[in-house]
Amino acid sequence: AFDVLVVGGGPAGAAAAIYAARKGIRTGVAAERFGGQVLDTLGIENFISVKETEGPKLAAALEQHVKDYDVDIMNLQRATALVPAATPGGLIEVKLENGASLRSKSVIISTGARWRSMNVPGEAEYRNKGVAYCPHCDGPLFKGKRVAVIGGGNSGVEAAIDLAGIVAHVTLIEFDSKLRADAVLQTKLRSLPNVTILMSAQTTEVHGDGQKVNGLSYKDRNSGELRRVDLEGIFVQIGLLPNSDWLKGTVELSPRGEVIVDSHGQTSVPGVFAAGDVTTVPYKQIIIAMGEGAKASLGAFDHLIRSSVT
Ligand code: FAD
Repeated sequence: AFDVLVVGGGPAGAAAAIYAARKGIRTGVAAERFGGQVLDTLGIENFISVKETEGPKLAAALEQHVKDYDVDIMNLQRATALVPAATPGGLIEVKLENGASLRSKSVIISTGARWRSMNVPGEAEYRNKGVAYCPHCDGPLFKGKRVAVIGGGNSGVEAAIDLAGIVAHVTLIEFDSKLRADAVLQTKLRSLPNVTILMSAQTTEVHGDGQKVNGLSYKDRNSGELRRVDLEGIFVQIGLLPNSDWLKGTVELSPRGEVIVDSHGQTSVPGVFAAGDVTTVPYKQIIIAMGEGAKASLGAFDHLIRSSVT
C-alpha cells in the first residue's frame, strides 16, 4: 500500500507527488495521461519565472522532475471509483478501469477539468490558432485584434470585460435570448464602448485561412439567418467540466461537480485530499494548480503523522 496515492498527473498531481516523495514516504501517481491539459497547450507565458515555454515541454519537465524521486508512476490508468477507509485511519481504495485496485493511507485527487467545446466545424482545427479557452492565458496574444467570446454566463461576461481592455473589439455571442451573468457584470459589459452583444445567436462554424482563425458564422435564432463576423480570435466560455464523475456519491461535490476542499486541501472524506482544476478553488491556472498540489500534499502528510496507522 502507498502512504500517498495521487490520482491525476497534471501540474497539481506532479507537485503533490514531489512534495510527498520528499518526505520519504511511499508515493504513487496514477494518471490517465501524464501532463494533463498542459499537453494541449501551445505557448505558456504566465508560469512565473519562466518567460515563455510550450505545453509539451513543460509536461516533459514535470514528468522528469517527478521521476527524479522514488515515485511509482502508473500512466494510462483511469480511476473509476474511490472507496473510503472502512475504519478511521484504514486504507482507502482506488479502483481502476482495468479492474485493478490501489490502496493507500491517503489519496490526493488531482484529476483536473476540461473545457466544454462548441463542437462546430473548424473549432478543433483552429484550437490554439485563434480558438482559445483561457482569457488569462491567451488574452494578451490578441492585443489590438478583434475577438469573440462565446457564452453569456459569468465566465463569458467576465472574459469579455477582461478582453475589452486588451483587444480592439469584443463580440459576445450568447445562444439564449438573455445573458445569465450577474447583473453587475452585465451593467459593466454594456458600459464598454468596444463590445457588441449578440443574443439568440448560435455559433455554427469557425473560419480560417488554413493557418489561423479569420471569422465565425452564427445563426440568428430569431430570423434563422446565417451571419458572419470577421475576427482573429474566439474565446469559448461555455463551461469547465471537472473530471469528478468517478467520485459522485463518495466525495462531497459542489453543484458544478467540483470537489469541495478546505484550506488544507482536505475533502469530505478523511485522508482524501484534492488539488487543482477539479476542486472548488477558483482561477484554473497552472501556477495555482501546482501551489494547491503542494498544499494538499502537505495536508496529507500532516494527516498521516496524526493518524494511528503505521
Ligand atoms: P489537469 O492538467 O487537467 O490534469 C489532470 C490529470 O488527471 C491528467 O493527468 C489526466 O489524464 C488525469 N485524469 C483525469 N481523470 C482521471 C481519472 N479518472 N483517473 C486517472 N487520471 C485522470 N494555464 C496557465 O496557467 N497558463 C496557460 O497558458 C494555460 N493555457 C491553457 C491552454 C489550454 C488549451 C488549456 C486547455 C488550459 C490552459 N491552462 C493554462 C490551464 C491549465 O492547463 C490548467 O489549469 C492546469 O493544467 C490544471 O492542472 P491540474 O493538474 O489540476 O489538471
